[in-house]
Amino acid sequence: MIKFLDLKKINDNYEAGISDAIARVLSSGWYLLGNEVKSFEQEYREFIGSRHCIGVANGLDALRLILRSYIELGQMSEGDEIIVPANTYIASVLAVSENRLVPVPVEPDISTLNIDPYRIEEKITERTRGIMIVHLYGRNAMHPEIERIKKKYNLKLIEDNAQAHGCIYDGKRTGSLGDAAGHSFYPGKNLGALGDAGAVTTDDDELADVVRTIANYGSKTKYQNLYKGLNSRLDEIQAAILRAKLPHLDNDNQHRRKIAQLYFDNIKNPDIILPSALCPPPPALCHVWHLFVIRTQNRDRLQNYLNDNGIQTLIHYPLPPHKQNAYREWNDRSYPVTEMIHREVISLPISQVMTDEEAEIVVLAINNYQNT
Ligand SMILES: *Cc1c(COP(=O)(O)O)cnc(C)c1O
Repeated sequence: MIKFLDLKKINDNYEAGISDAIARVLSSGWYLLGNEVKSFEQEYREFIGSRHCIGVANGLDALRLILRSYIELGQMSEGDEIIVPANTYIASVLAVSENRLVPVPVEPDISTLNIDPYRIEEKITERTRGIMIVHLYGRNAMHPEIERIKKKYNLKLIEDNAQAHGCIYDGKRTGSLGDAAGHSFYPGKNLGALGDAGAVTTDDDELADVVRTIANYGSKTKYQNLYKGLNSRLDEIQAAILRAKLPHLDNDNQHRRKIAQLYFDNIKNPDIILPSALCPPPPALCHVWHLFVIRTQNRDRLQNYLNDNGIQTLIHYPLPPHKQNAYREWNDRSYPVTEMIHREVISLPISQVMTDEEAEIVVLAINNYQNT
């Protein structure tokens, strides 16, 4: 059986570092807002190339804290609009609506599956305050056209970097390309904790200060509350574990690129659409292959076939945000590109511990697949 993602195998690779990290926290007797978090924040902001990093409880909180902070700073207010990709994991959209801002979905480019830069401008109104780009599946979503629109309309650019730690665009890491970025270290991400964890990165001193304060009950000085804050802290254990894994992230991503390359070179089946090579093909640095997402007309049939051949796959994602009950006010809207993607996508196994032999088994099965 080839697992979609063998998390145990991934973390077994770092067993010594992880055990040491946990032991350090245990013997320190300090569990929150201590040296591990401080050190991780410094190491991660150096890795990303941003002035500030604030550890928070998870990736969704990272995104909602950024928007909430812009509201507290008077730079956004209730009813303002934020451009979001129609094709994304729902967290990116939830972070917007949670803050009583209005998410404005924009269709993806069918070749990258990321937000289509050329369909953003038509959605800009008087109320537009920001663009949230999502580097979906690990592929950079930044584009010169987005930079142009941001400048022209004076918008905040927020990156959802949950799936793309380590990705590089134009010589810089994603997570340092806009005004602020949210990162998730959910266990299955390219850099994963052993539980929930997240971070905000930004170059904006004021924003960083407000995010940090709101994440800690709105308080900088104990028992003095500047904002109606929340409790969204990264804990010492998770920070220590992330410190053990971060130094290996670039290598891990390089291994994912190697597996992606193997898929690209060897999958040959007219019924399968491989990810586009428009973001230059692997080993290009603008993709960290969080997911290797292919498309096919008869997706469920392919999934059952692979399952029968001992290959586990997942669907990212089966139902777009605008078709969810959570956004029932959008249910009769039509985003045809997004809907087609959700009908056709299927994610093949890929990870930093997948072997060439396993990838070759996947290739062989797919090449033998018949769509009838
Ligand atoms: C995982 C993910 C998130 C949320 O991260 P959590 O840590 O699970 O809250 C946000 N956006 C995207 C695109 C994700 O994949």
